[in-house]
Amino acid sequence: MTTAFIEQSASGAAAPRAAARPASGRPIGTSGVGVRFESLAKRYNDLYAVDGVNLDVAPGEFLSILGPSGSGKTTVLMLIAGFVSPSSGRLLLGDQDISRIPPHKRDIGVVFQNYALFPHLDVRRNVAFPLEVRKVAKDEIARRVAWALERVHMSQYADRRVSQLSGGQQQRVALARAIVFEPRALLMDEPLAALDRNLRVDMQHEIRSLQRSLGQTVIYVTHDQEEALNLSDRVAVMDHGKLQQVDTPKNLYLRPANPFVAGFFGEANLFRGNAEAAAFVTESGARLPLARSARGKAVLCVRPEMIVFGDKQKEGFPSLEGTVVETRFQGSILRISLRTQLGPIMAVRHINTTDDAPPEGTRLTFGWDPELGHLMVQE
Ligand code: ADP
Repeated sequence: MTTAFIEQSASGAAAPRAAARPASGRPIGTSGVGVRFESLAKRYNDLYAVDGVNLDVAPGEFLSILGPSGSGKTTVLMLIAGFVSPSSGRLLLGDQDISRIPPHKRDIGVVFQNYALFPHLDVRRNVAFPLEVRKVAKDEIARRVAWALERVHMSQYADRRVSQLSGGQQQRVALARAIVFEPRALLMDEPLAALDRNLRVDMQHEIRSLQRSLGQTVIYVTHDQEEALNLSDRVAVMDHGKLQQVDTPKNLYLRPANPFVAGFFGEANLFRGNAEAAAFVTESGARLPLARSARGKAVLCVRPEMIVFGDKQKEGFPSLEGTVVETRFQGSILRISLRTQLGPIMAVRHINTTDDAPPEGTRLTFGWDPELGHLMVQE
């Protein structure tokens, strides 16, 4: 992201909406509206940065966009904010088509990783800025700034210069500035990436509780899976400009739409082969039982914690053998890498204090409940 862009975004989030608004005394904080993408695409020469995205974000929903670097996440956010215009498709905010509306008329709050605040101004003036440009009356500005600073627990810092604040405090000010003009939706682009881990987790809780109490629609870009899981109602997983799956964190983990999502969202043992009614036949020729009959070229996903060993095996589970290659204690879990006829397998089990890790070279029988194996049939 360029500096020029940050300046543009700061003013974009703050530009005039309409004529002066009187001080009303009414409660502050509008609820968010829905955002709809209709075959939205952005092309740069031969490259589709965003490729035919269809998506409905519900009013008041917290949606994260997750994907590897270069997958198109930031471009999606820039399209919504209006800093990039679509090559084709439409974008609706509530029932209004905003595809061709300039950024400052969209009434969308934006929070960036690098805050985009005015360092030489105090906190109060930074937060007041979007309202000043909108020519809101002075006493209403004071009322709303006080409200916004209280929402982010920064009231006591109102007179401090931004340059005298910590990174976490600056991000709270950026958040206050994004909500103070009652936006119709809030966009956040890796807002916590510059903060250390503990602060990041605290801020995640705060952002989530702020979003819930305001009923704001939030679209949040991150490359951090844990952050997406902590925050979101739903997560949109992107790769190569395309939406791979939009779903709840639980479904993304248990029912990934394809091998990319399975591998990107948590760890997965993926077996390639063919579904032949009640059995899945791997490329190496092993026959694995399926819970439900299916046919065709497919990938079977078994998460590491679903693997069970020896006497934990039950009737109907596949009965396989593997050799321990490596074990690692990781806090409350033990990770076991196995070499098997299906290829390398990763298993984890919760540690019982009386357990020892099986030594390298140990032969183990293992399997899983076929109900927990997830079959992804490929078109
Ligand atoms: P992400 O946020 O997931 O890292 P981006 O949305 O920034 O991905 O970029 C998606 C793709 O579009 C990348 O391949 C990137 O190089 C390309 N891209 C983004 N902006 C431009 C631009 N202004 N000109 C040309 N290519 C761009």
